[in-house]
Amino acid sequence: MLLRLLPRPTDPDSAYGLISRLMREFGRRYTGRYLLALLLLGVAAATNGVVAWLVSDVVDKVFIGKNAVLLFGIAGIVFVVSVVRGVVTFGSTMLLTRVGNGIVANAQAKMFDRVLSLGIDFHDRTHSSDLITRMSTNANAARQVLDTIITSAGRDFLTLIALIVVMLIQSPILAVVVIVIGPLALFSINRLVRSVRTVATEEYRSLGRVVASMQEAALGARVIKAFNLEPIMRERMDSSIKAVRNRANRIALQTARAGPLMEILSGSALAAIILFGGYSIIYLGQKPGAFMGMIAAVILAADPARRLGRTRIQIEAGLVGVRMMFELLDQKPSFDANPDGPDLVISTGEVVFDKVDFAYAGGSPLFRGLDFRAAGGRMTALVGPSGSGKSTIIALIERFYDVDGGHIAIDGQKTSKVKLDSLRRALSLVSQDTVLFRDTVRQNIRIGRPDASDAEVEAAARDANAHDFILGMANGYETQLGGENIQLSGGQRQRLAIARAMLRNAPIVLLDEATSSLDTESERQVQIAFNRLMAGRTTIVIAHRLSTVLGAHRICVLVDGRIVEQGRHAELLATGGRYARLYRLQFESQDPDALSESAPAA
Ligand code: ADP
Repeated sequence: MLLRLLPRPTDPDSAYGLISRLMREFGRRYTGRYLLALLLLGVAAATNGVVAWLVSDVVDKVFIGKNAVLLFGIAGIVFVVSVVRGVVTFGSTMLLTRVGNGIVANAQAKMFDRVLSLGIDFHDRTHSSDLITRMSTNANAARQVLDTIITSAGRDFLTLIALIVVMLIQSPILAVVVIVIGPLALFSINRLVRSVRTVATEEYRSLGRVVASMQEAALGARVIKAFNLEPIMRERMDSSIKAVRNRANRIALQTARAGPLMEILSGSALAAIILFGGYSIIYLGQKPGAFMGMIAAVILAADPARRLGRTRIQIEAGLVGVRMMFELLDQKPSFDANPDGPDLVISTGEVVFDKVDFAYAGGSPLFRGLDFRAAGGRMTALVGPSGSGKSTIIALIERFYDVDGGHIAIDGQKTSKVKLDSLRRALSLVSQDTVLFRDTVRQNIRIGRPDASDAEVEAAARDANAHDFILGMANGYETQLGGENIQLSGGQRQRLAIARAMLRNAPIVLLDEATSSLDTESERQVQIAFNRLMAGRTTIVIAHRLSTVLGAHRICVLVDGRIVEQGRHAELLATGGRYARLYRLQFESQDPDALSESAPAA
């Protein structure tokens, strides 16, 4: 209601534009509490005025007039006033802290929601450390800016007003001196603001680099140790930390530069008052009360004036974070999830690429008119040198990216037209790197289908050959994963991933076989689990195992984004082309005897 009175900002990226948006989107729901806080701060400001007001009476009537009754009266008033100030200060602090916490929580929830809704392309170009930094610092910036505005407006501005009123009443001529100096101060502050903006932006960037280095050190601990990278990592961290420190120091310098200025200005005001006041007492025979009152008012005004001087700078520094937060909140999902589109209906689960063109953002075209077909209910293997586009085919089926030309259809329905979540429901993705969340084994499997019962989770684990090793863990299905204590082997992780997919029970399985070789027993266990998962489902697999290519209904050989050969293993081998060469390189060293017992009949 209050906000509607404010004019619409013309430039949404200006300080005013950002603040008014901040108020609209984050402050509005707290309007009542902000008004109450303002009221309390106003009362606190008034108490300062009362104290300054009383000084002249103390001097003229108590000290000079020797009025004992008034002495007690005034002492009493001062006491009551300070009690009132204590109570309202407590109230406003509590109110603003709670509102501030609410704003941080709200901002974090909004940012997280937005990050969840954004596509893989966003994550491709955004470092996770950047998101982590934003989550903590930007949310706090939103709070800080609103907080600063309310406290400055409430406490400091209103206090100044109250004191100026007292000055005007007690000695209009002297008050003019003070009032002239005020705008002078504001003018000089403005010049500092611009440089703060630049420095604060740089500070956020460096902070992002600190978080990134820390993340790399944690995630890449093995590599760092194996390659003795500690000194290099330390150097990188040192330079990032140094950068943050330098920026922080520069912001502090800018903020502090406002300080001396205010000191000098308030000192000049005081000196002017002593001159004029002293003159009128000595030569014009005026009473000293008003003069003392003025001095008290100027001294009381110095602190709020100093803080107000810093306010613009603090707001400007905070707005850098707010700007970054809005930048994130304004990111648009790059494609339509078709929330109102038809559901994907699966009959056989046939996947068809029809003249698909695709290039990664900023990259050269990877697929040009790619045709590809994975028969329903059968296994199609993708083989080819690394970088040939195998993972991209899987990513496109998942619709992590949209194709640039042509289309992908499942059972005749274009994937770009059906409801996105119905598409994803039809697919199970089993990738090489099984991400385990910080939760129990049971919950980690249940990710496959959140409404599955305990019995269903265990049945899936049995099918995935994971049940036995899970029972062997300290707390069985209740063992916490994702912490430091539980180490799972590569094969165990894969079987957990398969259990998830089993539970999900989707008609189409997209599988990226792990390249790292497992020991024979583990390999066998995983293979059996895979075979159970693939049975009766359309499976598209990036093949690294001999048994997989042997069992494939069709093998597609991909080179530089083109399918150069396709057919069954024996046919392709007989042609003596690309596949035959690849086969010798990649698969022949594997011992077919060790695997043949688990390979499905071709
Ligand atoms: P494969 O799975 O066969 O190893 P990919 O499908 O992963 O091949 O990659 C195909 C090409 O696309 C490679 O040149 C790779 O560098 C590029 N590429 C893969 N992922 C991305 C991405 N997220 N952004 C930009 N380019 C990518």
